[in-house]
Amino acid sequence: MSITLLHLIPKDPHFSPASAASEAAQAQLQQLVPEALGGYDVSDIPGAAFIDPGENWCGVRCPVCGSDIEDWWGNAMDTAALPDGYFDSLAVTVPCCSAQTDLNALDYVEAAGSPGTAS
Ligand SMILES: [Zn+2]
Repeated sequence: MSITLLHLIPKDPHFSPASAASEAAQAQLQQLVPEALGGYDVSDIPGAAFIDPGENWCGVRCPVCGSDIEDWWGNAMDTAALPDGYFDSLAVTVPCCSAQTDLNALDYVEAAGSPGTAS
């Protein structure tokens, strides 16, 4: 048995929807997929967070030169994370070409959410 999770990830990593908008989105989802087993659970994440794709993780590349930066990325995430696990500043300098960018702008190969608030 598997489950399907739908994460709505805003382009602005610090955006959080108003509860009325979140409730409206949930109502739309229930209309689109009324047969969902187990129902629906909507959760608000209280800060900018990385949405881990779990087994769908396919790596991360530099958005400037395209280099594989997965080995560097884990430590960069740990360094940028606040003690509560959420993020404030996302600014980073990538090791491959020294470009200054941010964790949200990295090229996540597939199905990964950049640091951001989701619901
Ligand atoms: Zn690079």
